[in-house]
Amino acid sequence: MDTNSSLQARREQAVPRGLFTNLPIYASKAEGAELWDVEGKRYIDFASGIAAVATGHRHPKVVAAARDQLDNFAHVCVQVTPYEPYVTLAEKLNALMPGPGAKRTLFLTTGAEAVENAVKIARIATGRPGVIAFTGAFHGRTLLTVALTGKVAPYKLGVAPLPGEIYHVPFPDAYHDVSIAQSLKALDTLFRADIDPNRVAAIIIEPVQGEGGFIPAPAEFLQALRKVCDQHGILLIVDEIQTGFGRTGKLFAIEHSGVAPDMMTVAKSLGGGFPISGVIGRAEVMDTPNVGAIGGTYGGNPLSCAASLAVLEVIEEEHLVERAGAIGGLITQRLESMAGRNQFSCIGDIRGLGAMMAMELVKDKFTREPAPELTKALVAKAAENGLLILSCGVSGNVIRFLPPLTASDALLTEGLDILEASLADLVAA
Ligand code: PMP
Repeated sequence: MDTNSSLQARREQAVPRGLFTNLPIYASKAEGAELWDVEGKRYIDFASGIAAVATGHRHPKVVAAARDQLDNFAHVCVQVTPYEPYVTLAEKLNALMPGPGAKRTLFLTTGAEAVENAVKIARIATGRPGVIAFTGAFHGRTLLTVALTGKVAPYKLGVAPLPGEIYHVPFPDAYHDVSIAQSLKALDTLFRADIDPNRVAAIIIEPVQGEGGFIPAPAEFLQALRKVCDQHGILLIVDEIQTGFGRTGKLFAIEHSGVAPDMMTVAKSLGGGFPISGVIGRAEVMDTPNVGAIGGTYGGNPLSCAASLAVLEVIEEEHLVERAGAIGGLITQRLESMAGRNQFSCIGDIRGLGAMMAMELVKDKFTREPAPELTKALVAKAAENGLLILSCGVSGNVIRFLPPLTASDALLTEGLDILEASLADLVAA
């Protein structure tokens, strides 16, 4: 029988080390908010395959929709003979995207591919080259998206030359002493020092930074960016790949600010476990590329489109957007009660939006010196005790909570009990 360690040994011989492994735990089955490894051990899943199954593993409706589609055809390619689920899904997302006017949706396969296409479309639509992203941002690992990603190690090391005309501005982050005013000032400085705003095609931003440490962009900041974009004819691209589909207590996180973006990138939880991504945008912008300039063999794969349509229904029928708010409340309450105790002085900050919550672990509450070793140890200890969690943050010292939005209170509480016991063990040691 395969064991986690025998598979890990084989993996080390077969797969490059540059592909990160959070934990050497080999999945054999997953259902709802639970996962079992090849040794039969059960875990509560607060990772959701990196925010990709807000509707839980193998939601029966999603499985049935994909199965039905599979009985008809798995792949024909939308560029060869299009199919109804692609069009229906586009219509639904067009109606859901915030902001007035006609919309269009293009489907791709991965998050990075969606970001690549959004940038291409922005350049074609504006005839301008520049793109502004933020420090700490994560937009992917392909050559263009890694250039947009606002963190050098490990992503950008050794891969230069990166695509040009990409600029970074500090992301506002109160806990790390970057104010909204400082961020906006840096944007202004960029316009005077490096690039004329009339040469900027787009500003791209995550409404809550994901990999960067679960840092919500303040509504006031997003509103200010919208103004800057309007003033200079720049397109605002909102990357909702991690935040979308209910996670933050709105269908899309940008809705918390009332800002209407020009384009949105989506992926992850849209597919309920099936690979799909998309660019949703204003029709005038989306229709600018020439025929043949955008697309791909598997973009909007039929199985993924069918699954995504089921995901949208499940989100509505099971009130998962509202549920995200309740889950966020439950997690926050537990983290705050932990942080109030001397034993847990390592909890420096608790933050997030809806069910996209995180805690930042520090060596000292006053200096806020990051504690990445403790964070890593907590991920391992929690797994030992039956809970899957992920870390994030530019210093690797943030624990993020991304349980499926279908998880019951009982399961969430069981997971939080494991978290608390695991951290208690580590700080006592
Ligand atoms: N943008 C954001 C905000 C993400 O969180 C991610 C993935 N973590 C990506 C883009 C890239 O998505 P993918 O890994 O599917 O290429």
